Amino acid sequence: MRSADAAQPEAAQSVQAAAANAAQSASAQAAPGAAQSASAQAAPGAAQSAPAAQSPRLAWATPALLEGHTGPPPILLGAAGGAAHFALDISQSGDPLNEYGWQGAAEFPDLRAAAGLLPPGEAAIAAQARHLTDWHARHRHCPGCGGATTPVQAGWSRRCPECSALHFPRTDPVVIAVVTDGARCLLGRQSGWPRNLYSALAGFVEPGESVEEAVAREVREESGVRVHRVRYLASQPWPFPASLMLGCHAEATSTALRVDNTELEDARWFPRSEIRSALHAPTPTLTLPPPVAIAHHLIKTWAEQ
Ligand SMILES: [Zn+2]
Repeated sequence: MRSADAAQPEAAQSVQAAAANAAQSASAQAAPGAAQSASAQAAPGAAQSAPAAQSPRLAWATPALLEGHTGPPPILLGAAGGAAHFALDISQSGDPLNEYGWQGAAEFPDLRAAAGLLPPGEAAIAAQARHLTDWHARHRHCPGCGGATTPVQAGWSRRCPECSALHFPRTDPVVIAVVTDGARCLLGRQSGWPRNLYSALAGFVEPGESVEEAVAREVREESGVRVHRVRYLASQPWPFPASLMLGCHAEATSTALRVDNTELEDARWFPRSEIRSALHAPTPTLTLPPPVAIAHHLIKTWAEQ
């Protein structure tokens, strides 16, 4: 039913692929004014900043950032080097680079584009910070009684003072699957994607479904193809806003296409040779998602079998 934003290859330029577990990596380091996800070089007064290298790194601000801060309270991400690290939502600032004096030292690029350039651990931290700051911003009221909630437990939950309910950050599972009939694999594209870009089919897991059932339903709804032998391979956090992508392979038991044009603009079977070429470089007829997207790895794993 619902197609996942996560399925969009353009969106897939976010978190580093497979196995990037935000919560785990968070304790390895931690993030800064993460709501806007500071990347790039180092911020002035950065507690521990990256070298001014070619590759972007997260930049860390000092606790001075909290002085005069009137937005949401900081969220604990983890500890590293004996120091606690926090994410701070500074999205209320219209011009943070000037406001905080970071001009020329840091940037606030779009996370979807920047995450693919960050080291995997830092991309995971940025995903963790983005997921949590967004959750707080969108869950200010209790779903049980409507009361205004407040952050507790260092930002890892929100409590409702009216009914005492405790609310936790949600993660929405999304299945993404490469379907194969042996010699070919099934990929689709949504309208609005870059020309010739095709990716694995994806969608949200619905209530009462297993991962295997969700793959079978999504593929059938979007393409008309029936599958079995769904096999899980790897996952990818997708904090836009709160998904966890569950990457799978599945085998087709039918190959006739009946594309649901409300979800997809097109879906096709691609021979392995064409996939291998497109993995190397875009062909005149096929562009595949970039390596930062889990779809890329699902496709590549099948193509190299
Ligand atoms: Zn309540």
